[in-house]
Amino acid sequence: MSVVTYIGMGSNLGDSVQILREAAHKLAELGPIQVSRLYRSPPMGPQDQPHYYNAVVQLVTTLQPLDLLDQLQRFEQEAGRVRLRRWGERTLDLDVLLYADQSIENERLNVPHIGLLERDFVVLPLLDIESNLKVRDQWLRDLKWSQASTLTVIDDKHWVEK
Ligand code: ATP
Ligand code: CA
Ligand code: CA
Repeated sequence: MSVVTYIGMGSNLGDSVQILREAAHKLAELGPIQVSRLYRSPPMGPQDQPHYYNAVVQLVTTLQPLDLLDQLQRFEQEAGRVRLRRWGERTLDLDVLLYADQSIENERLNVPHIGLLERDFVVLPLLDIESNLKVRDQWLRDLKWSQASTLTVIDDKHWVEK
């Protein structure tokens, strides 16, 4: 059975826009996708790193949660991700933000993603795709991020095809 999932994407090393574009193409091999606009955001955590490029992809897939995580981690490896420091620079970060309306808590996976409600670079792109999303009893469109944020929109929803 297919479920609707949302994947958060980030990159601040290498040719980030191209890396995110390739990641979206790989996700499209797992099922039908829809993409958010493309954003630039200041780094979270260590400030002595380049700004990030962020987007969200909605993926409809038959993969079970841990199988989906395996695929995301494979794509991160293929993009040459090396772990340098916590919340440090990376070529590609792929997080499972939402998996249908399920709550998942195990050693490898926490869904909804831990930081979701506090991170404008996740909430705004999610709202690009679906304006009616409720996470932990909170409508995303009612969060303050939907009014003002630290993000810059750098491209429309067609950036993946360009
Ligand atoms: P953050 O999770 O705060 O965004 P991060 O993305 O930099 O930080 P990573 O180093 O990419 O963290 O991942 C650390 C571990 O988080 C992964 O090995 C994975 O098992 C675990 N994890 C837990 N929940 C999730 C999730 N929803 N999506 C992706 N990874 C998750
Ligand atoms: Ca992350
Ligand atoms: Ca991650």
